[in-house]
Amino acid sequence: MDQARDFYDVLGVPRSAAEKDIRKAYKRLARKYHPDVNPGDKEAERRFKEITEAHNVLTDPEKRRKYDEFGRAYQHAQQSGQWQTGNFDDFLRHFAGAGGTGFTVGGSFSDIFGDLFGRTAAGRQQAQTRGPRQGESIEHELEIPFEEAISGAQRAISLTIRDRCATCDGVGGQTKTCSACGGSGMSRQSGGVFNISAACPRCHGAGREVTGRCKDCGGSGEVLRSRRINVRIPPGVDTGKRIVLRGEGAAGADGGPRGDLILRAKVGEHPFFKRHGADIHIEVPVKFTEAALGAEIDVPSVRGTAKLKIPAGTKNGQVLRLRGMGVDKMGASGRGDELVKVVLVTPSKLTREQKECLERVAADWTEDPRKDLPV
Ligand SMILES: [Zn+2]
Ligand SMILES: [Zn+2]
Repeated sequence: MDQARDFYDVLGVPRSAAEKDIRKAYKRLARKYHPDVNPGDKEAERRFKEITEAHNVLTDPEKRRKYDEFGRAYQHAQQSGQWQTGNFDDFLRHFAGAGGTGFTVGGSFSDIFGDLFGRTAAGRQQAQTRGPRQGESIEHELEIPFEEAISGAQRAISLTIRDRCATCDGVGGQTKTCSACGGSGMSRQSGGVFNISAACPRCHGAGREVTGRCKDCGGSGEVLRSRRINVRIPPGVDTGKRIVLRGEGAAGADGGPRGDLILRAKVGEHPFFKRHGADIHIEVPVKFTEAALGAEIDVPSVRGTAKLKIPAGTKNGQVLRLRGMGVDKMGASGRGDELVKVVLVTPSKLTREQKECLERVAADWTEDPRKDLPV
């Protein structure tokens, strides 16, 4: 998603940073994201590649100068087809050699631009088959308070997302209507007749040429966009579940639809209740007399106070079940249970009467609780 992040942002250094500071920033980040330190971590691997690429460009004075000038389009120049192994200079030379005379950097740039749009010598035909592309989906974590995850909620959230720059359509370059073809993308023969079969040699069919770095995104092809979005949190949502908001992601290219916004739920903790899927676990202190004699006690549940029957002879640690007092099952009917773990408590002080009473109980207690132990 962040593939097109600005190299300076990637390394967290200002545009004016000295080379040694760039190297320092790289070393620090490389230690953190190196695949050896993060085995199997795809995100770390992606970050490592990203910082390495940023480092390689920004520590090469010539590459850095061109990156500063052209922004992200410079990366595309390296990535596109035939020049995979070459550098920017090779790329420029390729065009100078193939395209004829008088190539300025700007002239070459329009070729890059044409290539970006998939409008090479084949012209508009190819561009149309490629057509509008849907924007990228954006993933974001959404923290949900414990109670809201159970009851569900309607919430307005503010998000800042990296969006495709609308001014340059994510290309990073500033463009103007092609001066050779007037924007038609087709070559014109003398006398003003359009030659349908040939793409314009200047813009390669794109109809536009690049004149410099995009002013609105600084060449990164992306802008930060703040949005307020209404989210419906479904009852029973749990950590790791995804809430998908169609069409709230990054803008599409060439007029394509927006991508989706995917919110990964992260449900908060509760001081007493613990979530286990649709079940709720809780520990409840129970007097040893209640456990011995049996009782009905009030226990808290996520659906309010509930009555719990303690059968006579209940043991410490025993788990009692309150059916249907848990959380709504997402994507299924029914509800989870509340599981109450009994924690027996003994009085810290006894009156004389209580003591005499318990001594009678002790004298008549014939069952040996330690009979299975080697004592
Ligand atoms: Zn832009
Ligand atoms: Zn043109």
